[in-house]
Amino acid sequence: MYKGLLFVVSGPSGAGKGTICRRLSEKLDIHLSVSMTTRAPRPGETEGESYYFTTEEAFKEELAKDGFLEYAQVYGNYYGTPKDKVKEQLDMGKDVVLEIDIQGAMQIRKNYPAGKFIFILPPSMAELRKRITGRGSETEESINLRMREALKEVAYIDKYDYCVVNGELDEAVNRVEAIITAEHSRVSENIYELIQQYKDEV
Ligand code: 5GP
Repeated sequence: MYKGLLFVVSGPSGAGKGTICRRLSEKLDIHLSVSMTTRAPRPGETEGESYYFTTEEAFKEELAKDGFLEYAQVYGNYYGTPKDKVKEQLDMGKDVVLEIDIQGAMQIRKNYPAGKFIFILPPSMAELRKRITGRGSETEESINLRMREALKEVAYIDKYDYCVVNGELDEAVNRVEAIITAEHSRVSENIYELIQQYKDEV
């Protein structure tokens, strides 16, 4: 049975990975994984769509049940990828996209080496600051923290397979889409089924 591909998208807060992933899920038949988090919802975020918002206690219960494919603590809050849903979608042959931080991406890299790792970069640090500030949800202190974190995160870029600079949104979305298309054209396990079919026919 044809299995879906797992794509991991990371990058500094404000690089635009969330927007890129949402746009991709509108264009392509992919499953965008919804994470569980202990962070409070921001204005406009909806339960079950942006995140599954939960308490630290419930998160830790899920962790004890081995319910996460990966998890991490980011800016003092827990975030985790529910395992069952991802597995179910991949088994159904659907591509899954995880928009997660670098700590989580490194766990996936270790436990699921078949994953494809994409890093989203801002066009400049000035633009990154502008985007984080524009959200209006962050204090000056938290903006500065995210800027310092961004520089640390960029140092992990060589652990990723692809990088996309998000200067112009449509262009960045097209590039990530091209990566997904290219990954489907790789000679991989999935193709052997077709080769077997050829053999059966001849
Ligand atoms: P935010 O609070 O801005 O939505 O997300 C903060 C960071 O947590 C972002 O880098 C985001 O990609 C990351 N994140 C969101 N969900 C998960 C998850 O399930 N696992 C991990 N490791 N990181 C996540």
